Amino acid sequence: MAIMITKLMKTKPARSMVLPRMVVTGPGVLEQIPAVIAELDIPERGLIVCDTNTLDIAGNKVIEYLEAGGHPMEKVEIKGANIEELERVEAYSDKIDFLVGLGGGRPIDIAKQAGFNNNIPFISIPTAASHDGFGSARASIRRDGRKTSMQAIPPIAVVADTEIISKAPKRLLGAGVGDIISNQTAVLDWRLAGQKADYSEYAAALSEMAAELVENGIEKVASGKEEGVRLVVKALISSGVAMSIAGTSRPASGGEHKFSHWLDSNCSNPALHGEQCGLGSIVTMYLHGGDWKRIKDTLSAVNAPINSKELGMDDGIILEALIKSKEIRPQRITILDKSTQKQIEEAALATGVIG
Ligand SMILES: [Zn+2]
Repeated sequence: MAIMITKLMKTKPARSMVLPRMVVTGPGVLEQIPAVIAELDIPERGLIVCDTNTLDIAGNKVIEYLEAGGHPMEKVEIKGANIEELERVEAYSDKIDFLVGLGGGRPIDIAKQAGFNNNIPFISIPTAASHDGFGSARASIRRDGRKTSMQAIPPIAVVADTEIISKAPKRLLGAGVGDIISNQTAVLDWRLAGQKADYSEYAAALSEMAAELVENGIEKVASGKEEGVRLVVKALISSGVAMSIAGTSRPASGGEHKFSHWLDSNCSNPALHGEQCGLGSIVTMYLHGGDWKRIKDTLSAVNAPINSKELGMDDGIILEALIKSKEIRPQRITILDKSTQKQIEEAALATGVIG
């Protein structure tokens, strides 16, 4: 009986939302981490998941702040986001009360999944704004060499220090713009699939607004100044919130994401997630009959790739990925699933993505 009750408690009620309880954004907010943990009433012992790079950038500081705040800290430096590293982190489960994921992607994915699997609160500290994963419920973990997207829950808190994120390579910020801009085509695809895809007007509006705010402020973003970086960070957090409201990744993941996932699975050297999604979004916006030139101009402004050459791939593989994207999550209907091979080729050529 006791087992049954535990099982019941773990099952979420239908249509419930799990959202981060605290989001702290701004320059220098890293030192507020002990205050955030006190506010959340989380007990003592923590584990920080990072990699060698992020340990230098901010990890040592996080450990210092937390230990000064009375939290004995362990640390794991991971080499990738795969099942083996996940198991290495999960081995600490009995000895810790909270997890901190510190990085651009991989350490956050591992800490998020370990926290979810073991019911341990997880705090997300992004060091780059390259995609919306640092505030979302999904984790991308490699299993047998293949990337798989796993269900978890969003972080209990996000602490995004824009002073640190501003120092990340500009290419990562460009990718973040690509991921956020693709919300527009994701929402169009979601509408296209209609009620069968649990369409939510609120989640769609939030997701589109995040993309629009970045589009309208793209000059600020391109300047690389803290204010522009903060705009992208807040938009990416909103994107995660929109997905949590919807209970599906639909508001921020449509055909352009299927295109990117196909490239991840079939190319030995894929580009960044946000770069691929941004590029895919130019083509899918054309197919939707929308303002694809605005997407292209927005990506150009931050030097994100707008054609196959800039993405570092052949025209052939881009076209194949656009056409075969329907093999990825076939139940998720998007404009790419509804278009003919000829229409897709025409769109890729007309937008200058290939050719
Ligand atoms: Zn994405």
